[in-house]
Amino acid sequence: MTRELVVLGTASQVPTRHRNHNGYLLRWDDEVILFDPGEGTQRQMVLAGIAVTPIRRICITHFHGDHSLGLPGILQRISLDRVPHPVTVHYPAAGQEFYDRLRHATSYWDNAEIVASPIASPAFAVETSAGRLTALPLWHSQPAYGYRLVEPSGRRMVPELLAARGIAGPAVGELQRAGRLGDVTLEQVSVERPGQSFAFVMDTGLCDNVYALADGVDLLVIESTFLTEDADLAAMVGHLTAAQAASVARECGVRTLVLTHFSQRYQEPSRFLDEARKEFPGEIVIAEDLLRVPVPPRPGVG
Ligand SMILES: [Zn+2]
Ligand SMILES: [Zn+2]
Repeated sequence: MTRELVVLGTASQVPTRHRNHNGYLLRWDDEVILFDPGEGTQRQMVLAGIAVTPIRRICITHFHGDHSLGLPGILQRISLDRVPHPVTVHYPAAGQEFYDRLRHATSYWDNAEIVASPIASPAFAVETSAGRLTALPLWHSQPAYGYRLVEPSGRRMVPELLAARGIAGPAVGELQRAGRLGDVTLEQVSVERPGQSFAFVMDTGLCDNVYALADGVDLLVIESTFLTEDADLAAMVGHLTAAQAASVARECGVRTLVLTHFSQRYQEPSRFLDEARKEFPGEIVIAEDLLRVPVPPRPGVG
């Protein structure tokens, strides 16, 4: 079982020689979610060695080209490769017109089951095999939503406690299913296994929902378009600076912070790290194309 983020692209606005438009694939055991496929995402997946077949859902934050121009290519590839299961596409309902165009951008043999799932309210929530996926509106020049995935907490059986009560073999499964076996309860032979969580926050100015999405997550992927010297511009156009993104991570108790969506105006990615480091003491990843970032293991559990 693998839980990791595969970074496919990291450029805002226009791709560069080293950065493709956005694109992020979250592999969470069997649930594989593609976020914000910008132009060129299909080829970036080839370079990353990842097929489209495992994709279960696609989450679009908003309909700017750097977050969605790759959707036609990905959908056509899903058809070409005869992906056998439905693929659900979540996107802001206000962008229906753009979705419709991208969904049918060119002629092709459309034989995959693509399920449109427009998001029209902050009450949006779906249960996935990875946990509950929710979305909240952000503050940007186009209607935009950020996403949050929270795995429910479970229980981890402790072999020593089972052995002490003489429980083994099929009886263990029976106890797990029923919650008790004779006088022994599940709680007596297991410990809590906290769920893991993930948030994806793209184009936005700082607003309450950025914090709501990022609250306590293990892995936060967040835009960091600008440096502090351009903070006024960032606020004006609905974007974050590296320092703002990092302060969100600190206040929300995030474990691993992934900064991305960099403006091409800056030549040195290390400047984003320098500014973020002043605000956030945890793990910081300055995203690069084709980088893989593991979901950090549960403390003390693995
Ligand atoms: Zn963007
Ligand atoms: Zn945008």
